[in-house]
Amino acid sequence: MSDALYMDDSYLKNWDAKVVSVKEDKYIVLDKTAFYPKGGGQPCDEGYITHDNERFKVVYVGKFSDEISHEVDKPGLKVGDLVKCELDWERRYICMRYHTASHLISNILYRRADAKITGNQIELDKTRMDFSMEDYSPERLKEFIDEANDIIGQNLPVTIDYMSKDKVLQNPELARLAMGLPKNINEFRIVKIGNIDEQVD
Ligand SMILES: [Zn+2]
Repeated sequence: MSDALYMDDSYLKNWDAKVVSVKEDKYIVLDKTAFYPKGGGQPCDEGYITHDNERFKVVYVGKFSDEISHEVDKPGLKVGDLVKCELDWERRYICMRYHTASHLISNILYRRADAKITGNQIELDKTRMDFSMEDYSPERLKEFIDEANDIIGQNLPVTIDYMSKDKVLQNPELARLAMGLPKNINEFRIVKIGNIDEQVD
């Protein structure tokens, strides 16, 4: 299983890695990677893998049976190659900002209107979210959007934390979210928006 560097460091843009498998000349698995695979409503990362001054463009990243597979634009990479990796940071940062913003908005809709998120698709030029909202009106939604923009204006910290399953189940809000997840997960990665005493999501 390749080491997913983006789990601990969302801002990692460049790193060294080793090629551990190559399929059909263009599907590459690395020993460690910060390329985020498509999933969870978020598009995959793109960027470059460089070996001996030759650049291979990463055109798609997917997760298949626990391995993160990078599709490159041309053959040439071999097992054992030591490579330099580089994210298309502009693309990734757009996705990160949309992702965090969508959490803020869904939290506000949950608190203010008891609305649950029923769908989510992050794209590079826009992001769509679906909600089960009983008494929808454009004015009401505008209030929620204004509240989200106010929170964004506070420039709150976004931090990563790890929690055991027991601790997650003790927190009613986290337990609610954990209900839909596979039962064999024992450690949870929690992304917090806001300060400890004043958590936004
Ligand atoms: Zn999320």
